[in-house]
Amino acid sequence: MLKINDIHKSFGNNEILKGVDLSIDKGDVVVILGPSGSGKTTLLRCINFLEKADSGQAGFGDLKVNLHGASKRDIHTIRQKTAFVFQNYNLFNNKTALENVTEGLIVGRRVPKADAIGIGKKALDKVGLSDKYDSYPSQLSGGQQQRVGIARAVALNPDIILFDEPTSALDPELVGEVLTVMKNIAKEGTTMLVVTHEMSFAKDVANRVIFMDGGVVVEEGSPHDIFVSPKEERTKKFLKRVL
Ligand code: ATP
Repeated sequence: MLKINDIHKSFGNNEILKGVDLSIDKGDVVVILGPSGSGKTTLLRCINFLEKADSGQAGFGDLKVNLHGASKRDIHTIRQKTAFVFQNYNLFNNKTALENVTEGLIVGRRVPKADAIGIGKKALDKVGLSDKYDSYPSQLSGGQQQRVGIARAVALNPDIILFDEPTSALDPELVGEVLTVMKNIAKEGTTMLVVTHEMSFAKDVANRVIFMDGGVVVEEGSPHDIFVSPKEERTKKFLKRVL
């Protein structure tokens, strides 16, 4: 469903992605692990054109695009097929939870407002926020704000949701509620690519785990392959530190 080939990205002289390949099938829950600075977020942002790669190709089904120089139309199409959940939620502070969820549908997808409201309410119900439709972000906890962020992504019904460290800005006691929501939508068959430091989520929910270090994929496999019998020294060393 999504194939990334040989993606490179530098910031100035600092080469962050050094030729990463990635392949994701429908229904996959793929978790990317790796030390801080290994390029995980940059990879995710390049896939969604939030960052322009220096080179590399992406295939979304039949659509093949150059990640360095895609046309506006192709970028638009890819953004329609993907939704992004940000570390810092990226909600509009002057809009209610429901308005945050419906905005992309109404403006980006041209869904009639009444339909968007129906879809938006359903998405908020799914993340356990049926009593918060009219709350503003400042009236919500971090965990609730992130659940609005997830509802916004779900409402768009994309082919794949990209999660960029969705729990790392949260107080520890709020992490669980967000992971539970992610687990629930994974169970429904949502295709997900998740950058996270939450090892329990990787172990329990992912069907594939990718370990990145220094801008390359060092090793990938099932959670069992990576957590129980990692092959590469770098993977073993990383896991020893974080488990
Ligand atoms: P973490 O787990 O800490 O979020 P990461 O693996 O997601 O790390 P990235 O956020 O992709 O790593 O960052 C990789 C490197 O790229 C870091 O050294 C970071 O400082 C650098 N970097 C990221 N974005 C930019 C930018 N816009 N300009 C300059 N350098 C950047």
